[in-house]
Amino acid sequence: MISAMATQNRLSQLLRDQGVVDEAVLAAIAAVDRALFVPTGFHDQAFDDTPLPIGFGQTISQPYVVATMTAALNLTRRSHVLEIGTGSGYQTAVLAGICRWVRTVECIPELAHGAAELFDKLDLRNVTTRLGDGAKGWLEAAPFEHILVTAAAADFPAALLDQLSEDGGVMVVPIGDQGRPQTLYRVSRQQDIYRYEKLMQVRFVPLLDGYFSRSV
Ligand code: SAH
Repeated sequence: MISAMATQNRLSQLLRDQGVVDEAVLAAIAAVDRALFVPTGFHDQAFDDTPLPIGFGQTISQPYVVATMTAALNLTRRSHVLEIGTGSGYQTAVLAGICRWVRTVECIPELAHGAAELFDKLDLRNVTTRLGDGAKGWLEAAPFEHILVTAAAADFPAALLDQLSEDGGVMVVPIGDQGRPQTLYRVSRQQDIYRYEKLMQVRFVPLLDGYFSRSV
């Protein structure tokens, strides 16, 4: 039987072959067992470079996209990150392996609770979870030097732009409508000047609006 570690390393190598060069990101991906984050029926595909369903109409992202988004944030060991869209918690666990602290927001209660339980089980002590509308950010902990949005917004969420640090804050966010290719942007802020950089075409589930308030 091939061990989880060997298959995780194989995934890391696959990403390297596709041009991912950030060693901290590759090491973090090799350290997280993606099988823990996908439903049992999909375990045999957990280490393929493909998105997979996680229930509630949501998906765990393709590892290449996780790697590219994480690398685009320019993280260090000291970084604090705000993540919007916890989903399975896989991307959160990768971030937690690289930086100081991750705050993550999810609007679907079952996913938020499932991920929080998994973080406990994995003893990830540098993650704080919240159930709520991530488009509103996390005001009490703002400003953020790094914000990662893992669901596609029709336009740049105003609250997240506001909560980005004025001193070199970086946000990585997919923008666009459903059913067509969306664009992954890196937004960098210096004082009131925002720079928008297009990184690649992606396909994400939508950033839901008001789902949380309707569902409770
Ligand atoms: N990063 C996740 C995948 C995210 S899929 C992973 O690694 O598994 C996108 C997630 O964003 C879904 O779980 C969805 O419920 C969540 N989401 C969508 N709109 C949201 C909102 N307004 N606030 C918080 N979470 C949201």
